[in-house]
Amino acid sequence: MKIAFIGLGAMGFPMARHLAKEHEVLVWNRTAEKAERHAREHGTRVASDLTECANAPVIITMLPTSSEVDETVDKLIEHLQPGTLWIDATSGDPNVSRETAKRLARKQVAFVDAPVTGAVVGAENATLTIMIGGSAEDFERAREILRINGKTIIHVGDVGTGHAIKVLTNSIMGATVWMTAECLLLAKELGIDIRTALAVTNAGSGRSNASENLLPMRIADGKWPLVFKLAHHDKDIRIANSLSHQLHASTPMLALTQQLFSASLHQLPENADYIEVAKIVAQMNGTSWDA
Ligand code: NDP
Repeated sequence: MKIAFIGLGAMGFPMARHLAKEHEVLVWNRTAEKAERHAREHGTRVASDLTECANAPVIITMLPTSSEVDETVDKLIEHLQPGTLWIDATSGDPNVSRETAKRLARKQVAFVDAPVTGAVVGAENATLTIMIGGSAEDFERAREILRINGKTIIHVGDVGTGHAIKVLTNSIMGATVWMTAECLLLAKELGIDIRTALAVTNAGSGRSNASENLLPMRIADGKWPLVFKLAHHDKDIRIANSLSHQLHASTPMLALTQQLFSASLHQLPENADYIEVAKIVAQMNGTSWDA
């Protein structure tokens, strides 16, 4: 199958590499050198220009937000072939995705939102969880292609539902990271060794992905790698809040989480990792994790 893959960032680069094991993959990236490196290293082919991607029967986008996806649709729409499947793996906005799907349907192009979770390591190891919004038939087509990228592929519902559950689940993670960092900081201030505090948390009711995997290497070992840009995470939580507003829902924890993450975004350097919000938790208390 010929697949055009657009967006070779932290996630897209390894995802396209796995797809190339089974498919003829055409790659396009805004910064062309990354596409050239991908072709050299993984046997893909660089699209001569973006519009060449419109010739592929399957197009996958892995871009920062729905707005870049929309711009890409604008550029390709006149060139698309009827019967094409557009898989948007971006963590996007369900409202935009539904409009995109309608625009593409007028060209007889199917659209599914297929955001992923599992971080860069999941993309590298092809162990992503992929949540798909679209018709049952389009889901089956997308699953057949994406099975090489993920262990768990779930049909969530109609177009937009994949994007909706993705931003909601990331919001749960954001709130958990923040709360866990606050309580572990308090433990530290109370004179409890941070590794002991983590050991107790992870053996008890406070255990989570944040306490088991995300925070220990940062707050105990002082290693703060960039794996997921805070700007992307902040975007997800803002979309989740906009969905809550749309439903006139009462979600104060979600609103607070968004405020804290957006404030952190302004305090931390550009390209900060999302777990660096733990540094802001410490700063708000006049201290740091290595103090
Ligand atoms: P990156 O920032 O690493 O990559 C973004 C990609 O989009 C790059 O290829 C970049 O091109 C391209 N891009 C940026 N702006 C434009 C534009 N205006 N036009 C065309 N291309 C553009 O992001 P990630 O790979 O980390 O994330 C991609 C998506 O996946 C996001 O929605 C994110 O929320 C989601 N996600 C990320 C995870 C992670 O752990 N990193 C985990 C799960 C989901 P260039 O190379 O030129 O900059």
